[in-house]
Amino acid sequence: MRIAKGSTISGDAGHNCYPDVGAKGIRFEDSCTRAVWNLIMKGLQELGYKTKDCTPWEKNFNSAGASKGYRVRLANESNSSLHLSIHFNAGGGRGVECWVSELGGRSEKFAYRICEEISKLGYVNRGVKNSNLYVTKYTNMPCVLIECCFIDSQEDMERYDPYTIAQAIIKAITGEAKFNKEESESG
Ligand SMILES: [Zn+2]
Repeated sequence: MRIAKGSTISGDAGHNCYPDVGAKGIRFEDSCTRAVWNLIMKGLQELGYKTKDCTPWEKNFNSAGASKGYRVRLANESNSSLHLSIHFNAGGGRGVECWVSELGGRSEKFAYRICEEISKLGYVNRGVKNSNLYVTKYTNMPCVLIECCFIDSQEDMERYDPYTIAQAIIKAITGEAKFNKEESESG
């Protein structure tokens, strides 16, 4: 199960608007989600996929719920084949986990692979979890909310590199990992 080249993959960097602000730990969630999602988009484009950025960068909303509604609306309008919502966890654990709104379907398959690929980097695999989170529930396409690792874990933050996490996610959903850190850094 892979996504055909030329298909659109939508996604959003969690938070990054007001009052939908992410968690703070050793790093800020907002800066981590921004770094990883931007690298995912760049890598997917290099591999021949279209991307749709549904992040409401720096916008002001009346509620955090409105920020989520914005993301879902743009994703559904894009008719993408998959939506990725990039987050980082906080609260005293360590490792990666992925959230879906339905077990047994394509979302869970993508989520399982994403957990596997990120855990290959050394992060603890907390597995796929099922809950009716707003973005995963209301998007029309398969959707995975990724909690890449814990921003308040010393161990996770020592291992953290947005390039390796972005590459792991790209490999999980495309089967390819053509993504060059040096090329990305030089422009
Ligand atoms: Zn978050």
